[in-house]
Amino acid sequence: MERADRAYAVNARRHLHKYPELSLKEYKTAEYIRRQLVEFGLEYVAVGETGTFAVIEGGKGQGRRVLLRADIDALPMEEKTGLPFKSVHEGVMHACGHDLHTAALLAAAKRLAELKDSFAGMVLLAFQQAEEKGHGASFFREQGLTRGYDRAFGVHIAPDRPLGKVVLSRGADAPSCDIFRLVLTGKKAHIARPHLGIDALQAGAVLAGELAKLSARAIDPADKVIVGVGLFRAGTSYNIIADEAVIEGTLRAYTEENRKRLQEQVRELAAGVERLYRVKVACEIVDCADVLVNDDTVREEVAEVARQLLGEGGVEISEEPAFGFAADDFSEFLRECPGAYAHVGVGAEGKPVSWEPLHSDRLEPEEEAVIIAANLHLNYALQVLGAAGEGGRP
Ligand SMILES: [Zn+2]
Ligand SMILES: [Zn+2]
Repeated sequence: MERADRAYAVNARRHLHKYPELSLKEYKTAEYIRRQLVEFGLEYVAVGETGTFAVIEGGKGQGRRVLLRADIDALPMEEKTGLPFKSVHEGVMHACGHDLHTAALLAAAKRLAELKDSFAGMVLLAFQQAEEKGHGASFFREQGLTRGYDRAFGVHIAPDRPLGKVVLSRGADAPSCDIFRLVLTGKKAHIARPHLGIDALQAGAVLAGELAKLSARAIDPADKVIVGVGLFRAGTSYNIIADEAVIEGTLRAYTEENRKRLQEQVRELAAGVERLYRVKVACEIVDCADVLVNDDTVREEVAEVARQLLGEGGVEISEEPAFGFAADDFSEFLRECPGAYAHVGVGAEGKPVSWEPLHSDRLEPEEEAVIIAANLHLNYALQVLGAAGEGGRP
C-alpha cells in the first residue's frame, strides 16, 4: 500500500478549513488547489469559474482511466467549534467536511504525481464547486468531463461512524434531489369583497397541504421518498386578498421511476389547484442530483482496498443508503461510468463534537480521517491502473 504525505494532508485541510467559501464563490479555494497542482507538476483546466480538472498521465503509456472527485464548497453558517484553525470568514463554515475531501484528494494527487512513471493510463482529478447547491457537477458534465472513464470514485465524511471505518452502500447510496418552486398568482381585492379577488393564499395553503400528503397517495409504501415543503410565503396585509403565494420544497427518491412520478404529481397538483381556485400556477422543478448508486464491482474493489488499509473490520457494507436522505451530485459522474462513493468515519471515542451531524456548526471531524481518505483515493487509483505495489491488480 502506498501512503499519502500525512503532514501535507493535515496542513492542507487546516488551511482550507480556516478559509471556507460559499458555493460558486470558491475563488481562493480554487486558487489554492491550482497552486498545489502546479507545484506537483500538473496541468489543470478551470471548470466554470471555481471548479478545477487536472490529469495525471501515467508514464507507461495507454491504459485505464480513473476519475477521483472532491467537492470544495462550504456552508452559510457561523462556526462554533473551538478549533485553532476555525473559520476566519464570518458566517461561512466547512460543516460538511469538504475541506477534508479536498485536502485528501490533493494529498493523493501529490503522491500519484510522484508515482506516475509506475503506471499506465490516467488519473483524472475533479475538484468540484457548489455541491451544496446541487449544480456544481453540471459544469463538469457540460464540458464533457463526466464521461469516458473506467472508474469514478469519491469520498464523504461520516460523523455517524467511528474513525477507521469505511462504509459503502450496496446499491443506492443517496437519493435524487429536485427543488420545486411554485408561484401562484391571483388577484388583489378587499378582504370584505372576496368575490372580486382571486385568493392565492388559500390556494397556496391547499397546495402546500396536498403536497405534504402526496407521497402517501402516489408512491408504493414500501419505497422511501420525501416531498418536503420548506417555504411558504403569501400576503401583504390582514385585509387584502393575497395576489401571490410562493411554495418551495424538495423531492427525494431512490429510483428514477419514483422521481419522475413525484415530478409529474407535483405538476398535476399544481394544475388541479389552478382549475379549482382560478389562480395561475407557475411550476419550476430544478434537477439537482440523480440517485447515487454504487456499482457492485467498484464497491467490492474499493472495499478490498479499504480492508488492506484498515483491516477486515474497517469496512462496512451498508444495506441501507449510507447517506440517508441527503443527496450528492457526485451522481452526475456516475451517469455513464461505474463508480462508488465511500463514507469515511470521523467519530472519535470520548469526543462528542466529532459525532455531531453533517451541517452542524459544532462538527469537528477527527483529523486522522483526512489520511484515510487520501490513502483510499491513492490506493484505489493505483489498483485500477494496475500499479498497486503489494495490493491486488484489477
Ligand atoms: Zn452538505
Ligand atoms: Zn457534503
